[in-house]
This record gives sequence, C-alpha cells and structure tokens, in this order.
Amino acid sequence: MRALITGVTGQDGAYLSKLLLDKGYDVDGLSPRHSTLNTWRLEEMGICDHPSFTLFVGDITCPASINFHVKVGGYDEIYNLGAMTFVAESFNSPIATMHINGLGSVNILEAIKNHSPKTRFYQASTSEMFGNTGGMLNEDSPMIPVSPYGIAKLYAHHMVKYYREHHGIHASAGILFNHESPYRGIEFVSRKICDGVAQIKAGKIDHIELGNLDACRDWGYAGDYVKAMWLMLRQDTPDDYVIATGETRSINYFLGRAFDNADIDMCGRIKTNDVFKRKSDVHILCGDAAKAGKKLGWVPTAGIDTLIKIMMDAEMERHEVGR
Ligand code: NAP
Repeated sequence: MRALITGVTGQDGAYLSKLLLDKGYDVDGLSPRHSTLNTWRLEEMGICDHPSFTLFVGDITCPASINFHVKVGGYDEIYNLGAMTFVAESFNSPIATMHINGLGSVNILEAIKNHSPKTRFYQASTSEMFGNTGGMLNEDSPMIPVSPYGIAKLYAHHMVKYYREHHGIHASAGILFNHESPYRGIEFVSRKICDGVAQIKAGKIDHIELGNLDACRDWGYAGDYVKAMWLMLRQDTPDDYVIATGETRSINYFLGRAFDNADIDMCGRIKTNDVFKRKSDVHILCGDAAKAGKKLGWVPTAGIDTLIKIMMDAEMERHEVGR
C-alpha cells in the first residue's frame, strides 16, 4: 500500500506516518516550503530515517504541485492533514485560512478526480465546525462555525461530500474533536499548560498566562485518533464520522490535573490575558462517537486524565525534572 500524507510534519502527520509504516505502507509526506523544515516530530519518532518514508516539499494551495504528486505517486490512499490549524490565528488571517483549509482540500479532490480516481481520500474535518450548537454532537448536528478556521473547514467538509456523491470518489471526513499529545504544537493550550507546569517545577518560570479558562473541550489522545482515520479508509463505503471521547472538561480542569501531576500548588500560578482570548469562542464541545464505534469498531483508549499524565511525563522529561 502507498499513502500520501499532507501536513506530515504536524502532530497527526507524525502519528499517522508511524501507524502506516508499522503496517508496512510506503509513506510519502508533503510539507510546505519554509526557510527551515519543521521535522522535529518525525525525527523524534524515527520516521525520517525509515526506508519506506519519503518527505517531499509541496503546498496544498498549489494545484501544480498537488497534480504532480497525485498523478505520479500511484497512491492507494491520501490523508489530507495539512492546514492552518491555530484557530486564534484564523481571525487575523481569514484569507490564508480559506486558501489552505478550504481550497487546499479541493485541489487534492480535483487532482484525484482527474488523475487517480481510485485513490481513497481522508479529510481532517473538525468539531470547530459545530460552533456553539451545544449538546452531544454527532454527524447530523447543525454546523454553525464561529471562526474563519471552522468556516473554511466546513466548506472543505461539504466539498468532500460533493466529490463523494457526484464524482464517486472514496472520500471520507473525520470530524475530530480535540486530540493532544506530547507532539502538539507549543501554542495550543494543552501543551502550553503541560510545558508551563513543567517549567514552573524546574524553576524556570513562576506562572503561566492563558486566555479563557472556562472553555470546555472533549480531549482525546492523538495516537488513538489517527487509527480512526486509517479505519475510515478500510470501509467499502466512504462516510463521515465523529471521533471523540464523549467527555467534556474545562481548561481549568486540565490545569488542575496538570499541576496535580507535578505535585505543585496551582494557587497564584495562573494569570489571564485577553491577548490569548479568541474573538469569538466555542464555549463547550462534546462528541458522540457512537457511529465510529459501531461501524469502525473504534474506541478511545485514553481519557483526559491518562492524556494529561502522558503529556506531563513527556514535559517533565523535556525539562529534566522529577516529581
Ligand atoms: P498541526 O500539528 O498544526 O499540523 C498541521 C500541518 O499542516 C503542519 O505540518 C503544517 O506544516 C501543515 N501545513 C500548513 N499549511 C500547509 C500547506 N499550505 N500545505 C501543506 N501543508 C500545510 O495540526 P494537527 O494537530 O496535526 O492536525 C492535523 C489536521 O487535523 C489539521 O487539518 C487540523 O485542522 C485537523 N484537526 C486537528 C484537531 C486537533 O485537535 N489536533 C482536531 C480536529 C481537526 P508546517 O508546520 O510546516 O507549517
């Protein structure tokens, strides 16, 4: 089996590469051109040196680049994880966000339709598409996004359905709720908290600055979530699936558990700063992954407390502090 992963240098790209390589796939990864390549996750996981892994420079917003790879790659599967992923930044860069998260996905679908119609496609959709719909969210819940990130992802989500229904492409979308790991980007709140707590423990800083502490999210472990992506492309019929734990917790809860893990009193260690608040926020997200459980046989192995322990263990090691 041959697979192409866009956004391969990101958190999910690294976990998915590892999963597919372990299953015997040849994996090509696509990463956009920056002044320096952002390959630290792939290096730490030993993926860069794997004989069945090749990293290409390529941008999903460039049809010429995507057409080339889809045409010559002979891929059985393409996983589109490439995106502008930081929701807060999407308010400042709505046009770039739409180009990458919206049109970037369509560039790949169009290339598949024209050059490789048997290739199966996975789209990284998101719980941010629901906005403030509330309740236990499933595939049929109303989607009313409140950020340029969510709006661009919803456009791509609808286009996946369009290419599936009108062009017969085996295209599936995973509506993934928050999933984290020690390989999450440092600007994301889960990693920022765990890194900050470990730095406090190491005596490097004395507090952490955060935005809205009351936002509630359904947090899972990235290692579990990439398995769901792979399972979706194993199905005879393409479809959309919510992937979530079914449990929602506030950022305040996450903080409390992270400080408990480091055995530090949280009192006086958190400052809120409006700079870190979103222009419009999703207050609460909780997903119902019953369809994925029934059809894919997918279940999460880690709840939030296990996830926080995994992340805190990694950050304490990074900052060389014991408990
Ligand atoms: P991530 O760590 O931020 O990785 C995103 C990747 O996309 C990076 O490798 C980035 O490369 C790449 N990228 C950015 N612009 C690109 C472009 N124009 N062309 C090709 N690649 C580009 O994000 P993640 O957590 O792994 O998420 C993977 C996917 O799942 C994303 O589409 C995200 O929106 C979606 N998702 C994530 C979550 C979550 O909780 N993690 C939840 C729902 C959906 P550089 O780093 O080099 O810029």
